[in-house]
Amino acid sequence: MLSRVGAAKRFLQAARSNKHLNAFISLKPEETLLAEAASVDSRLGTLQKSEHSSIDGRIIAVKDNICTTDLPTTCASEMLRGYVSPYEATVVQNLKRAGAIIMGKTNMDEFGMGSHSIYSAFGAVVGPSPPESQHPRSAGGSSGGSAVAVAMGMCDAALGTDTGGSVRLPASYCGVVGFKPSYGMLSRLGVVAYANSLDTVGILGKDVESVKNVFDEINEHDPRDPTSLSAETRKRLRENLSESSYSKESLRIGIPAEYNVHELTPAVREAWETVAQKLLSLGHQITNISLPHTKHSLSSYYVLAPAEASSNLAKYDGVRYGHRSDADRSTPPDNILFAPTRHTGFGAEVRRRILMGAYALSSEAKENYFIQAQKVRALVQRDFDQAFVQPNWLKCGKDKRGPPGGGGRVDVILAPCALSTAPLLSDVRGQASPLDAYVNDVLTVPASLAGVPAVSVPVFVESGQNQQRRPIGMQIMAQFGDEKVLWEAAKILEGLGTIKA
Ligand code: GLN
Repeated sequence: MLSRVGAAKRFLQAARSNKHLNAFISLKPEETLLAEAASVDSRLGTLQKSEHSSIDGRIIAVKDNICTTDLPTTCASEMLRGYVSPYEATVVQNLKRAGAIIMGKTNMDEFGMGSHSIYSAFGAVVGPSPPESQHPRSAGGSSGGSAVAVAMGMCDAALGTDTGGSVRLPASYCGVVGFKPSYGMLSRLGVVAYANSLDTVGILGKDVESVKNVFDEINEHDPRDPTSLSAETRKRLRENLSESSYSKESLRIGIPAEYNVHELTPAVREAWETVAQKLLSLGHQITNISLPHTKHSLSSYYVLAPAEASSNLAKYDGVRYGHRSDADRSTPPDNILFAPTRHTGFGAEVRRRILMGAYALSSEAKENYFIQAQKVRALVQRDFDQAFVQPNWLKCGKDKRGPPGGGGRVDVILAPCALSTAPLLSDVRGQASPLDAYVNDVLTVPASLAGVPAVSVPVFVESGQNQQRRPIGMQIMAQFGDEKVLWEAAKILEGLGTIKA
């Protein structure tokens, strides 16, 4: 393995020579980074491989909505510019405990709201491309900075957050692996909330193994996060799922008809078909399945996520946190304290979400929007429970009586992660309506609503006379808590090699 000092220098060099991609909001100072790497080198030199964690000395980038005490946590918002958290997120503490080094904080869509990382107070993230590129592409969002940092060799792996696809979509556009765990696996303590009931910490890396290694080190119950899965629930999941009857050589893979939406570009549809064919020829079983409520997922998500966001973001009032507008007229006769601060502190997209959410929760709209969206969410969850062979062990009791679902036909579900390969940034910026960006999430939000684990794995498609190799993100989803079968399937996908179109 390259010395950690050597790796740190190489990552810093990559970050500097790719400044135009705007992947980082803040980087750890060079002297500190090199000193931390040198101390790992001397420590690792005296240890056997089996004596240290699999991520000891790994250099990891962290999305800027995950709290760190030595670097600011801005959520890419004017509202929190320069804000330094007094405490550290549990996932960051866990990384450090395992010997990992934090490289810096990555750029993103403000508060995680967006699909292209263009809504940042620090400027848009640009997808992997040379500085002179005339037609740069979207990095995806909202964890675009983390995906670019991994794709361009600026770190060993990165943390992102995934509420409705924010790790999987950028992973798909940038050609890296992006993983969203089951809801409640990774602690959210110190992760700035966007929509609590959907938020997860996700991991991006070059390959499945490196992502899994990070997950294994930071995955544990956190008593300080009330939504963290308890030790008892984890045990129940582990024990019941380990009896699972799947065979690595012959996985039962579901192809959901409803994911074949008409907006899917032909290249992505072909790649999906080719991957399914290849898996079949390797001895896996391909089964057509139905997740009938998929088409309502997007509307449900875009009611629930903004509703939760409007409540979460109410605390940014210019009194307790960060930014306060000079236009504040908090003295009589105006007495307007919050409005100017919130107008200048939040970007247009965040303000739009707050308005949508506040409306959905208003007495006038609650029944028709918020309550309906919750009902749709329950139906989406039921779709998944009915598809998998495994029941949902989160919901079923210790007595194993009446577990919801189970009796379905598949171990995992295979679908594309995004409608297309990375679009041009100029096209994304020129979109007439914000709804155009929301549509991008149609293939990722169902797993978020259901809380099930999902991973985007790049398959490389070679096409055209000049044999251009483009990554297309294929998504694997599994039953709640069944990360084990998810990794198996992800490794099989990774092993497919280049696909000829
Ligand atoms: N694009 C989605 C949104 O804007 C998902 C974001 C996320 O997962 N953080 O809400």
